[in-house]
Parts: sequence; structure tokens; C-alpha cells
Amino acid sequence: MKINNGRKMELGANWIHGVLGNPIYELASANGLVDIIQENKPHNVFAALPDGKRVSFSILQEIYDAYFWFFKRCEEYFLCKYLPPDGIDGVGQHINLEISLYLQQYPPHERDVRHKIFNYLLNRETCISGCNSMDEIDLMEIGSYTELPGGNIQLPGGYSSILGPLTKNLPADKILKGHIVNKIRWRIASEVNDLANEESVNGEGSDSQNQSPARKQKNFVEVECENGKLFRADHVICTVPLGVLKEKGRELFEPPLPDYKLDSINRLCFGVVDKIYLEYERPFLNPEMTEIIFLWDEIDRTKPLSERWFKKIYSFTKLTETLLIGWISGEEAKYMESLSFDVVSEQCTKILRQFLNDPCVPQPKRCISTSWWLQPMTRGSYTAIAVGSSQVDITNISHPLYANPMNSKPSVLFAGEHCHPSFYSTVHGAYLTGREAAQLLCIPDTPPEVVLDVEGTADLSTWIQVS
Ligand SMILES: Cc1cc2nc3c(=O)[nH]c(=O)nc-3n(C[C@H](O)[C@H](O)[C@H](O)COP(=O)(O)OP(=O)(O)OC[C@H]3O[C@@H](n4cnc5c(N)ncnc54)[C@H](O)[C@@H]3O)c2cc1C
Repeated sequence: MKINNGRKMELGANWIHGVLGNPIYELASANGLVDIIQENKPHNVFAALPDGKRVSFSILQEIYDAYFWFFKRCEEYFLCKYLPPDGIDGVGQHINLEISLYLQQYPPHERDVRHKIFNYLLNRETCISGCNSMDEIDLMEIGSYTELPGGNIQLPGGYSSILGPLTKNLPADKILKGHIVNKIRWRIASEVNDLANEESVNGEGSDSQNQSPARKQKNFVEVECENGKLFRADHVICTVPLGVLKEKGRELFEPPLPDYKLDSINRLCFGVVDKIYLEYERPFLNPEMTEIIFLWDEIDRTKPLSERWFKKIYSFTKLTETLLIGWISGEEAKYMESLSFDVVSEQCTKILRQFLNDPCVPQPKRCISTSWWLQPMTRGSYTAIAVGSSQVDITNISHPLYANPMNSKPSVLFAGEHCHPSFYSTVHGAYLTGREAAQLLCIPDTPPEVVLDVEGTADLSTWIQVS
């Protein structure tokens, strides 16, 4: 969407995560959609305590470094298959154990600020992973996510600009918008003439008038939309998000999805991550400052969400001199979605005034927050591997459905970020699974005849004569 002097603000995906091996980057650069040279602005953070006192950069750096290694150690469980300490199965629990050991080296009065920085980093991690708390993320599986090298790249024309090259060869009338699918009936069989058989019978000179063509069963998929339209297809690639599968997966398919798929859909996490944009009339922050980090006191979770939801907002980053972005995840994000933009705007202003220790921080002229949980077409933001689930669940969901085991091609295939075992939660993961599903359908049913074409052996009769 366009705000802030026509600049595009992404409500969802913003970055191409990684360059090397990233098909979205390749597509974008082949079509001139990205600048090869990305401007890397210096990052000057202002980290403050609830009383507005600034925390020194050296302490921040120290805790960032320690946290980096705590997280790396979690990722190693996936690759090395060590066993974690007894009773520790979530990433959050493991990191918190390391934090408590780490903090022991400090006298009590020096621990508190460090603990708050660790909590901020864990909070930020929930927005990266897509969950409510890092305790929910499976320790043995966190390393399954593969980060592609090259950093994060932005599309200056907005993420939707990638749709141009992707759809340029599709006739416009073949893309139907506003068709909410209610039902996918994937085991419809109807009798068809077996044309191949009919031809061979006729070709042998038999009396085709007296022969009824062979009848064969063929499977179709019927897709029923909320607007009453019905579509018939040989194959369907289903790309509804995991959140929609969680909510409607049971009734969306007829016959219903097999239990192993439904169990995997249930086990995986589809977390809620929302953005908050604050747009101002005029600049009010120090031009050097790029991010204001909130180092909250320990959150009292016995209090109602109405009193504490905003403590999950861990920072506001400056996108321009008059535009800030904040992130929020989990239960607190869901709660925020129930509030009006005005209430969110007021609360964010209170936080900024508190941490900047400046009662003159202005009210934004506009506040826009996302509602990925309330959106019926998403019901959340992106996939994460929850405690007790694994990559196998992703593979289970992505298995295609065959109406008949004798069919060479599946009736329903699945694609989307939730179907990629190592690039889940990303656009490139979604793209790759869609491409793989389409390629499977494009493979010919009968493999092409293999013709050996070796130079000098084309005319075997000559060879026989010579010898
Ligand atoms: C706040 C946020 C920030 C993100 N940032 C990044 C980022 O920087 N980089 C990145 O790589 N990824 C990011 N992501 C994740 C990225 O957006 C997703 O991984 C990606 O969009 C997944 O694509 P998909 O095709 O699987 O699902 P979607 O993009 O959700 O597409 C699914 C489609 O199915 C449609 N649909 C749902 N139900 C039905 C139905 N019943 N009938 C018909 N249609 C239906 C939906 O309308 C939607 O169009 C972000 C996501 C969020 C929420």
C-alpha cells in the first residue's frame, strides 16, 4: 500500500532473503527489479530502559554477541543431533538456560540490564520465527531453516512487482480473482472413451461401426467457490496457507484429507506477526538515530492483555524521517488486531514518550497496523516448527493426493511456504514448491523413447559390409 509521499509500504513480505540460490532474486534481477548495489545505511540504535535511561552501546554489543552464539548452539542440534539437556525441548528454554548461566558472572545490579537486552532479542526472534514465544519452537528442528547467503534485498517497486514477470505469459482471463474456494472434490470419476484404444482398433481395419469404443475411468477434481462457480480440472495445486488449512482443512476437501496430513497441519505452528506503521507530519527524531529499542521490565503475564499487549513491541525502526515501523507477535499481536488504529497509535505514542523520556513526541498523523490473524484468507503469518513437530510434518502436508493409485499424476498437489522443508516462512520457499508441483504435472506420462545417437553408427548396414 502507498503512504508516506507515495513510497510503498509492505503490509506483508518486504525482503528477498538471500541472493545466492534464491530464485526470487534471480527473477527480480533478470527483470531489472532490484538494484544490484544496495545502499547500506549505518545502523544507529538508541536502546532505552522504561525510565528513559539510555543503555551503552558496549553492553548492547556484548549481549548481541553472546545471544548470537546461544542461538547458533540451538541450530547445531539439528545438524549434529546431540541430545539437549533433560526437559529442554524449546529454543526459548535452551536460550534462557544459557542466559541464566551467563548472567551468573555478573553481580546482581549488573544483571538486570543484560537480562532486559536478552529478553528484547528473544522477543525480536518471535517475529523472525513467527511464534508467540520461542519456548514454542522445537529445539531439534530450528536448524532446519536454511538461510541463503547474500543478505536481505528490497524490491524498490514493492514485492508485487515480481508478479509482472511471473504472469506475463498467462492470458489475463485465466487469472481469476475473488473466487474463494469452499470445496475441493478430488475423487470424482467419470467414464470417458479410451481414444487411444479406439484408434488402434480402427487402424487394424475392423468395422468401427459395430464396435463401441473402449470405456475408461478418468478422475477429475471439482472446485466449488463461494460465489457458486464450479470448475473441473484434471489436477489442482492447492496453495492456501497453513492457517487456512488449520481452520478449514477438515471440510475443504471431499473426501477429507487423510489423518496423517491433518495431524501434521495441527502440529506445525502458524504464528501471528504484525507490523505497525506510524507516519508523522514532520521529522522529530535525531537524524542519526535509526532504531529505538525498548528494554521492557519482565512482563507480568498474569495481567490481562489489555494492560500489557504493547510490551511485546520491542522497537520502532525509522524507514524515513517521518515513517516508523514496529513489529509485534503472538497473543499480543492478536489482541492488537482487535483495537482501532487510533488506540494503537495512542499507545505507541505513550511508549515512545516513555522510552525517549520526551513528553513532546508528537502523535502520528496516521497509524496503520496489519491483521494477519483476522484475515480469513491467511489466519496467521508464517510457518514455524513447533515443539513436537518436525520437517516430516512439512513433507506430509506437501504429499500430493492420488484419486486412484493407478493414476500416473496426482489429483491434488500442495504448494506454499508451509510445504518447503528448509525455506518455510519465505516467498522463495512458496515459489519453489509451486514450481515443483507444476513441473511434476508437466512430465509426460510415457517417458520419451531413448534413441542412441552415436557418431558413426547411424548406418549399421555399412558397418556390417565393411567388416
Ligand atoms: C508481516 C509479514 C512479513 C513477511 N516478510 C517476509 C519477507 O520479508 N520475506 C519473505 O520471503 N517472506 C516474508 N513473509 C512471508 C511471506 O509473505 C510468505 O511466506 C509467502 O507470502 C507465502 O506465500 P504462499 O503462496 O504460501 O501464501 P500466500 O502468499 O498467503 O498466498 C496464499 C493465497 O491463498 C489465498 N487463499 C486462502 N484461502 C483461500 C480460499 N479458500 N480460496 C481461494 N484462495 C484462498 C489467499 O488469498 C492468498 O492469495 C512475511 C509475511 C508476513 C505476514
